[in-house]
Amino acid sequence: MTEIPDSHPRRESLLARGKIVAGTRRGLLADSAMIAHGRGEAFDYLLGERTTDSAARAIRRVASLLISAERPVISTNGNTVVLAGEDLIRVAAVVGCPIEVNLYYRTPERVAGLISLLQEQRESIAKEVGPDGFEGDWAEEVRSVRILGTEEDFRIEGLEGPRSICTKEGIGLADLVLVPLEDGDRCEALVSLGKKVCVIDLNPLSRTAMMAGVTIVDEVSRASRVLLTEVLSGPSMEEEWDNRAILREALREMSGSEGSI
Ligand code: ATP
Ligand code: MG
Repeated sequence: MTEIPDSHPRRESLLARGKIVAGTRRGLLADSAMIAHGRGEAFDYLLGERTTDSAARAIRRVASLLISAERPVISTNGNTVVLAGEDLIRVAAVVGCPIEVNLYYRTPERVAGLISLLQEQRESIAKEVGPDGFEGDWAEEVRSVRILGTEEDFRIEGLEGPRSICTKEGIGLADLVLVPLEDGDRCEALVSLGKKVCVIDLNPLSRTAMMAGVTIVDEVSRASRVLLTEVLSGPSMEEEWDNRAILREALREMSGSEGSI
């Protein structure tokens, strides 16, 4: 990849593109991954490429739900692993939950490739000093994060074909699923199974964003970084949660960018 100067105003965005390109070359991402990423970028541009106040509230809510759930799981697709795998492993280590690779365009090769990448990420994170605010044996907690996906011993009711495949230990028995960048149909199927579904999606109008119990309208790597600090600082549950209000707020924040013209 060509060198991107530190001062480049769109450095983060270019680095993310580079990761998606590299992931595609390694065969880890489906052909449509770049299209999905591009759609996300367009919304992120309107947001001003920042975590807005409403997104920060949604992240706090998700952190609290993750901490208090009985069997939470973080479900990841290819783009999520490539862009935010490391912070999500840190989150999983703090919460004590598994990560499951679950792909819309599922092939055994990509599932295996993404699991190996997560395993590599896990090993390098285990060697780090634990994050501020973490108490305990960091290396042990990180190494105990289960990375699931190959078991294929559960079917999500209401979905046909390979899209329904998941693991019993992860999504199958989970009471809460944090699923960044999910497809609308699968999100709906998870909700109708009675699971609490939390998503990260830059498009506040997507079916996914509207179906979920909590939607974080933010870029997946930024949101995962903030989520880590929130799970480290413990639960802070607001009584009521109006997800539609959060989506409307996100749209207002996007249209607020007209002020910069
Ligand atoms: P629906 O949810 O309505 O079914 P979709 O699942 O068909 O929509 P996709 O084309 O699969 O939508 O696009 C994936 C979604 O992920 C888009 O809504 C896009 O805005 C969002 N997205 C893409 N990249 C990122 C990212 N890096 N961070 C957060 N969201 C992203
Ligand atoms: Mg979607």
